[in-house]
Amino acid sequence: MTRIYPHTIVAKFGGTSVADFDAMSRSATIVLADKDVRLVVLSASAGVTNLLVELSGGQESSVRQDKIDTLRTLQYNIISHLKQPEAIGQEIDRLLDNISHLAAMSADSRSDALCDELVSHGELMSSLLFVEVLREHEVETQWFDARKVIRTNDTFGCAVPIVSEIAERVEKHLRPRIAQSLVVTQGFIGSDAAGQTTTLGRGGSDYTASLLAEALQAARVDIWTDVAGIYTTDPRIVAQAKRIDTLSFSEASEMATFGAKVLHPATLLPAMRKNIPVFVGSSAQPRAGGTLVCRDTHEPPRYRALAIRRQQTLLKLSSVDGQPAHRFLAQMFGILSRHDVAMDLVTTSEASIALILNSTGSTSGEADTLTTSLLTELSSHCHVEIETGLALVSLIGNALSQAPAMCKEVFARLESHAVRMICHGASSHNLCFLLPAESADSAVKALHRHLLE
Ligand code: ASP
Ligand code: MG
Repeated sequence: MTRIYPHTIVAKFGGTSVADFDAMSRSATIVLADKDVRLVVLSASAGVTNLLVELSGGQESSVRQDKIDTLRTLQYNIISHLKQPEAIGQEIDRLLDNISHLAAMSADSRSDALCDELVSHGELMSSLLFVEVLREHEVETQWFDARKVIRTNDTFGCAVPIVSEIAERVEKHLRPRIAQSLVVTQGFIGSDAAGQTTTLGRGGSDYTASLLAEALQAARVDIWTDVAGIYTTDPRIVAQAKRIDTLSFSEASEMATFGAKVLHPATLLPAMRKNIPVFVGSSAQPRAGGTLVCRDTHEPPRYRALAIRRQQTLLKLSSVDGQPAHRFLAQMFGILSRHDVAMDLVTTSEASIALILNSTGSTSGEADTLTTSLLTELSSHCHVEIETGLALVSLIGNALSQAPAMCKEVFARLESHAVRMICHGASSHNLCFLLPAESADSAVKALHRHLLE
């Protein structure tokens, strides 16, 4: 009979938490400290995915060889600390050979599917190595291929998970294993209906952890990273930024969407659907505490945090034939949708639309959102302007639409800034505005001082 673990915790470790042997050992200690941790989801070791993405770009053979040597060194730095390095060494060698073969194929003809196949090797290697580290702690551990359960569509580079199929597959293939022993699997990777490897977009391991927690109806997801929680803003911009102890799902998802790098933006959706709390802490300082993201928080403050998203592109489309606004909007969104353009903030006027392209996150094609075919089609119907060199600043909070003096408080701090676009009203949790990239940090500093310190 399958044993049910009512308190199952899914623990996810990011790239820095599995960067080398010492980091892996610290992470193993965290796993073993809590017997409710039954499933471990891993990122690739820090730096590995970047190297693999570069290798998928089609480089000449000597450049490829350098990168593969760097990858080999990273892996062997871990293997050389193991008491039984032989078998795992052979397995990693086999994966490195695969990488080399796939990188050569990419040099011949690059494709998004090939890129995903190639980058999946980062998580495959880190998870195999972590199993060995856990075994050295004398814990029974099974390695599990996440592609068996994370079923997605075939949008390579930024695939969309199919939740109902994941639930079925987890019941069939994963839950029985969790009843037997601790299980280690990969974040970020999945497979489509044809069995081809896909990825969930950069930083997607967090998302895998919450998707699996949803399917298992887990009691909590622990995200172990290199910062001890979620802060009021990026502490590298504002030294006075403070850790937030508890945060609501809505606040945290706004923060992730609008640029707080701690969580992959989609991570909280599965957690919200099943009301599973998500803890964020530092694997280097597990005792430093962290942030708990859950459904309700005690006395949510008006202003919670400031997020910043850099390298934003503003696309402005203006009608040339004087058709009514509703038809013009329908036509433009039809074109954007057919070209699968990811956009997330929109303002409109009688004869024009301004929108921000959201190209953050995809493994492949990040710079390719504005394809020639899209621009050609748009230009045949309207006047197109593209502005780059912008940053999006977002104020996250609660009941912002009911705060009478908010706009005055915020924009009084921005007197010297050329605000390019403002979005407010669709969500009561945010107010976003676009600024020239070089003035974003000073805006965040001024607003943080005034609203959050
Ligand atoms: N390894 C992948 C990345 O670097 C996924 C992740 O770390 O979450 O984007
Ligand atoms: Mg991450």
